[in-house]
Amino acid sequence: MLDEIRDLYQEVVFDHNRNPRNFRVMDDATRKIDGFNPLCGDRITLYVRLKDGVIEDVSFQGQGCAISTASASIMTEVVRGLTEDEAHDLFQTFHRITTDQDHEIQLEELGKLAVLAGVRAYPARVKCATLAWHSLEAALKEDAETAVSTE
Ligand code: ZN
Repeated sequence: MLDEIRDLYQEVVFDHNRNPRNFRVMDDATRKIDGFNPLCGDRITLYVRLKDGVIEDVSFQGQGCAISTASASIMTEVVRGLTEDEAHDLFQTFHRITTDQDHEIQLEELGKLAVLAGVRAYPARVKCATLAWHSLEAALKEDAETAVSTE
């Protein structure tokens, strides 16, 4: 792990946890999903407004540790405006960088997401970081209100 990524990671998590972006209820959401990470007790409600296959808006509410909150906050910033397919591809990439220790991190390729790769330094917290992403995957797949768990 590069020291610079770890430092940047801690800085970004601190910032997003203190001041989470898109932390609000969305009244006109087309998808709403509850996510839960029993390992840490993180809870998230994710709201998505889809129109013609594009994520027009995304927001969240919830209570959890700094990593889960920061990861959800960053995710909402990154996926807004993407198509469902693009968001799915990003989920796959994120999943790979957080779980595959051998995958070399390409800062240029990942942009904002790269800092989240810093969670690899804390393997017990990976599920905190991926909770929002699993919730998004589920939200994009389901029409009805459902719940998702990292376990
Ligand atoms: Zn957590």
